[in-house]
Amino acid sequence: MENALFEDRRLERTLQVARLAGALLVFALGPLFPSLAPAHVLVLGAALLAWTLINTRLVEGARTAAGYERVARFSFVVDTSVVIYAIWVFAADPQWTAWAVGVLIIIGSAFRFGRLGALASMTTITLAYLVIVGWRQQTYGYNIELQRVAFAVSLYLLTALIMSGAIRELLELRKQREHQLFHDLLTGLPNRALLIERLQQQLLRQPRTGESVAVLVMDLTDFKAVNDSLGHAVGDDLLKQIGPRLAASLRTADTIARLGGDEFAILLPGTDETGAARVAQKMLAALEQSFPLEGEALDIGASVGVAVAPGHATQAEQLLSRADVAMYAAKGSLAGLAVFSAEHERDGAGRLALMSDLRRAVDEGELVLYYQPQIDLRTGGITSVEALVRWMHPKRGLVGPDEFIPLAERTGLIKRLTRTVLTEAIRQARAWELAGLRVPIAVNLSMRNIHDPQLPQTIAQLLQRWDARPDLLRLEMTETVLAADPERALQTMDSLRAMGVHIALDDFGIGYSSLAYLNRLPLDEIKIDRSFVIGMIDDESSATIVRATVELGHGLGYAVVAEGVENAETRQRLTALGCDAIQGFLVARPMPADQTAEWIGRATVPAVVAAGD
Ligand code: C2E
Ligand code: CA
Ligand code: CA
Repeated sequence: MENALFEDRRLERTLQVARLAGALLVFALGPLFPSLAPAHVLVLGAALLAWTLINTRLVEGARTAAGYERVARFSFVVDTSVVIYAIWVFAADPQWTAWAVGVLIIIGSAFRFGRLGALASMTTITLAYLVIVGWRQQTYGYNIELQRVAFAVSLYLLTALIMSGAIRELLELRKQREHQLFHDLLTGLPNRALLIERLQQQLLRQPRTGESVAVLVMDLTDFKAVNDSLGHAVGDDLLKQIGPRLAASLRTADTIARLGGDEFAILLPGTDETGAARVAQKMLAALEQSFPLEGEALDIGASVGVAVAPGHATQAEQLLSRADVAMYAAKGSLAGLAVFSAEHERDGAGRLALMSDLRRAVDEGELVLYYQPQIDLRTGGITSVEALVRWMHPKRGLVGPDEFIPLAERTGLIKRLTRTVLTEAIRQARAWELAGLRVPIAVNLSMRNIHDPQLPQTIAQLLQRWDARPDLLRLEMTETVLAADPERALQTMDSLRAMGVHIALDDFGIGYSSLAYLNRLPLDEIKIDRSFVIGMIDDESSATIVRATVELGHGLGYAVVAEGVENAETRQRLTALGCDAIQGFLVARPMPADQTAEWIGRATVPAVVAAGD
């Protein structure tokens, strides 16, 4: 948009020069026409000069494309009036100047208004010319030959015809360029510039109408993974399907724009907070149906942030950025939807600072691993410990993974982060082994890690580097790794397991639950999500899910682990259900390596006793 304005301003400057030159010419040539009254020459020249100055102000003052368009049209009307006045002044003498000016007007109007403009101005000028000629013949008794009149009229006609043809093409080009400047090339949706423009218009009207204006910002979940694993063509195809899918839940007055990447924004005029939240919910529901891509059905989620004017902001950019901040907050919520609040803004600022810090943290060893034991329900012995990453932030202290793992996933930093965690976990497991404590360490993987074709090789190298056997390492991943490219995830998991690494399906029950894949997955263990385990004492449906998962897991030949076990009662019920192992605050909280070693040292004794019974 800025480019277009800039180029139009160049045109504007040329016009300014023309106006100035016109004024000078009037002053210079005026005296050469003996029949011209000096007053006319003065008025015409002064008018041109004044208009040049005013026009400069107007053009500079136009901030939006629509505003600029208004100035351009107004300028055209004034320019034409001045020129017609000039014809009238100069045509007192039948000079070539009169024709030349007429031809210039036709060209000018063709540029501004296209074909119709050229023809309309040609007609007007011809008529004006004939009237002036007739009036002069009567008043002054001049006798103008018919040939001269015919020549002038045909000159105008010819100009109009040529210009209207040539100009049509130019205008077509200009329209195309404008469309490109205000629309996204891939999806054809309005872009950020057009959204801001429309938002500004709504906000200008807002104080008068009193109606609120809502903006939604939507970001697709794990779109990057779709792109990475299925290729950009499929990613593009998905993006193209989003607009039409969302349009079904919108009114015609609403604007849906693509802000870039997998981010979309929706402008809802005359909509308050409740209305906007309702639309957001409808949109999320519309996205729930799978997208047909390359003959496969792909599920994709989204997070939506809502901001409403005038409550949250009154300026377009600010409103949009607040909806963006809310969208980030929505990413952390279960509903995938959040309305802006001042709290989010603080989080948003903190998040930005965190993001730049995080790169440093990964490189400079600010990440530390805590370990949480998992124990066998029958023997009471330790089966493994889970490595849970923490960030020793120099100013903030210990930061939990929920605050920075999602950030690392979004920025692609997760690859290096996981590598760091794997390196430390394998080193630690081997160090403990050498010290006589043989306990496997489980490491959490993100979806992006599973789509990294180098992962198995990286792990093999790390194991080799520490001279560690593969069964010292366990990997945990959630069902989301299957969302984008199940085949590829399966391949990676297969090759990892073939190496002898134990694999657990984490947070079972809250993900995509592609039951169809469950028996094809190369798994050793299923970890029931802690929300069901924590809820199973008071909530019958949670208890049912736990029971069903134990049966399902066993039926498929996997061990079943319950995480989030906080009290003895839960432990008893899990034992009764035949659950294999537990992890949770009841057993131990995550703790630093030295404490973990102590804990293992103490815990191994009863385990050995239990095994010896
Ligand atoms: P997770 O894999 O489900 O890890 C278990 C989380 O549950 C841990 O939170 C742990 O402190 C918590 N927890 C354990 N026992 C109990 C309990 O009895 N009650 C309750 N309420 N919570 C319990 P933490 O350490 O904050 O980790 C949160 C999540 O961060 C993890 O969930 C995991 O998804 C992710 N994460 C942690 N470390 C890494 C890592 O190195 N890489 C990746 N990709 N993700 C990680
Ligand atoms: Ca885990
Ligand atoms: Ca878990």
